[in-house]
Amino acid sequence: MSRVHNFSAGPATLPLSVLEQVQSELLDWRGTGMSVMEMSHRDKPFMSIATEAEADLRELLDVPANYKVLFMQGGATAQFGVIPMNLLRGRDRADFLLTGVWSRKAVMEFRRYGTPHVVAEPADGRYDHVPAADTWSLSDDAAYFHYTPNETIEGVELHDVPEVGTVPLVADFSSSFLSRPIEVERYGLIFAGAQKNLGPAGLTIVIVREDLIGQTHPALPSVFDYKAVADSESMLNTPPCFAWYVSGLVLKWIKAQGGLEAMAARNARKSSLLYDYIDAQSFYRCPVARPDRSWMNVTFTLADAALDTAFLDGAKAAGLPGLKGHRLVGGMRASLYNAMDAAGVQALVDYMREFTRTRG
Ligand code: PMP
Repeated sequence: MSRVHNFSAGPATLPLSVLEQVQSELLDWRGTGMSVMEMSHRDKPFMSIATEAEADLRELLDVPANYKVLFMQGGATAQFGVIPMNLLRGRDRADFLLTGVWSRKAVMEFRRYGTPHVVAEPADGRYDHVPAADTWSLSDDAAYFHYTPNETIEGVELHDVPEVGTVPLVADFSSSFLSRPIEVERYGLIFAGAQKNLGPAGLTIVIVREDLIGQTHPALPSVFDYKAVADSESMLNTPPCFAWYVSGLVLKWIKAQGGLEAMAARNARKSSLLYDYIDAQSFYRCPVARPDRSWMNVTFTLADAALDTAFLDGAKAAGLPGLKGHRLVGGMRASLYNAMDAAGVQALVDYMREFTRTRG
């Protein structure tokens, strides 16, 4: 077996110990004589897996009792439409902070249900920083305020919770979920696709304050009705059982590492290792403003873009795949999710240094 340091933005690297546990339990889950893939979601073994995962998630994030934790499908992209259908509650408007591709996509989808109000976006169209909070123009009739704490494509992260008064905050935590503690009580709704920090693709987590649910758009399919999903404990129909199970193992792994404070310390250290190297030389450059740089997705360019292919080919040959930047922005992106260890980041820095010595 030869495992690489996988820098993919998602689906992404998972903890080796979790994969080994999945492997050891694959054919016979704890004496049941069957794989989790083969179990009824209504039988006790899977119900215990499901309940434990929710309890661990609640414990890690310290989720208050008046919030529902939902295990859904359709990815974060489905939520771009599902959120307005659940949370507009007869209103027409929601506020959006534009910081990159994913917040822009959320606005586009919202247009099917209401009139989006963009509170701020970078003036020059360069998504390399977060617009200063004193430039935001909040509307007075917004049903909620939507933002993207971590823009996966640009590598731009808001390190503080936006101050938006009493309007419910809605946050797309897809690429920074569980990377650090979240003050859940400051949000109306948090959502995230699993396939970066939590587990395999196919599972979408929604954490929503219960007073916001139950007044839905009439055309909303019931599998996307938060109240109906909550009332059925995310078993309204067959859930993504295997993804739920693997995610449960990842939650146990996070707990064993010391929880979200430990994850935060580790993620801050890992990203500094890479940013400090990038800032200390002149061949590589990070385009993102320093206070807004992501802990999870580190973007950078080479001084000569003609060397991009050689850089990527060499990295892959050195066991460092997944570094190609998103096609919309180009350059490079190293995704440093929870399961990427410091040794992987050090191996990348060593490779980058060696590349400048021989090619730069
Ligand atoms: N929002 C963010 C911040 C993302 O990073 C992604 C996926 N890269 C999405 C939304 C879309 O997620 P999905 O593919 O699960 O629909």
